[in-house]
Amino acid sequence: MHSGRTTVYRLASRGGRPLHSGVTPAPETDTAASLGADADVRLVQLVKRYGDVAAVDDVSVDVAKGEFFTLLGPSGSGKTTTLRLIAGFELPDAGRVELGGEDVTGRPPYARDVNTVFQDYALFPHMSVQDNVEYGLRIRKVDKAERRRRAGEALEMVSLAGYGVRKPAQLSGGQRQRVALARAIVNRPRLLLLDEPLGALDLKLRQGMQVELKRIQGEVGITFIYVTHDQEEALTMSDRLAVFDNGKIVQVGAPAEVYERPATAFVAGFVGVSNMLEREGRRFTVRPEKIRILDDGDRPAGEHVEAGTVADVAYAGMVTRYVVALDAGGELQVVRQNLETSSADALEHRGRKVHVAWRPEQTYAIEDGPPDQEEA
Ligand code: ADP
Ligand code: MG
Repeated sequence: MHSGRTTVYRLASRGGRPLHSGVTPAPETDTAASLGADADVRLVQLVKRYGDVAAVDDVSVDVAKGEFFTLLGPSGSGKTTTLRLIAGFELPDAGRVELGGEDVTGRPPYARDVNTVFQDYALFPHMSVQDNVEYGLRIRKVDKAERRRRAGEALEMVSLAGYGVRKPAQLSGGQRQRVALARAIVNRPRLLLLDEPLGALDLKLRQGMQVELKRIQGEVGITFIYVTHDQEEALTMSDRLAVFDNGKIVQVGAPAEVYERPATAFVAGFVGVSNMLEREGRRFTVRPEKIRILDDGDRPAGEHVEAGTVADVAYAGMVTRYVVALDAGGELQVVRQNLETSSADALEHRGRKVHVAWRPEQTYAIEDGPPDQEEA
């Protein structure tokens, strides 16, 4: 069921060897990451245009069976369109979609073994929860007793056993979301597509549902392709993720790989805080939690040390974020866990001269232009 996982980590071990300068090179942008025969979903050079806009612009990627795969990117980057091409709601202008090794590009949605969960749930308001969940089975002419049984199972899986008689309007947002999920998994599709399914929930509920979704996916063993613009959600939930920018995939990898070794300036800035510096003609990024603010007089051997001034401090409970303007040019965000620091201690740092340090192997070379040039 989880054959996908081994593949995931095999792919994740690419790239990331330190250079002589101590700056680790960006990984090759392996957007076509080929899984060979393991691929459950394969997108090959997909293109979808709306007038002059290439909403999806040459997208190729393989997703493994049982994998939790996320499409992450800002609004308008082509995530939903990619999902609609996989589901069959749109036809591509070029390229193809393969499911389980079969070319399904020309097939209508109902002839693909795929279900979709939308952000607005799209439950039938006049039907009970039970009937909503049974709907797909009824269409497939599954007999009544079997329908009852399977819908009951699905509702149990999403922790809604006993809610079958209610109408959607009698449920909370989180419960409605779980009904939509039960309805989508009840006929065990090979692939479930989820388009920002937690977007309408408040933060606490969303975090709870993230954990639930992961658990359910583990239990049913269905391949999930999940769309979000929320980098934290993508990092928390995914086996692997693809970062979208302007209709293109700019990086594919395991969360830690994409976060720690962003391939481009855009990825560095979108998945986390960009923290870009240029030294001796080299541009690189170093993540906020890898940087230390040194105690007075502390000059650790083997670390890169720079002097600067604390330009800003934001106390956030668990951590404090410092913005340090470096004497040699550029600015870094530094995150420090508040082990003993109080809010008052943290805020006192504003305006202070400090030294910051990081290990050279925690820096990653960025080869392309800064994000604001890319946007232009
Ligand atoms: P995302 O889901 O990442 O926010 P979309 O895939 O919805 O992005 O959209 C990608 C681009 O395609 C956007 O520029 C959007 O305006 C455009 N687009 C999407 N659907 C249509 C459509 N039906 N007609 C015209 N343009 C569209
Ligand atoms: Mg969208």
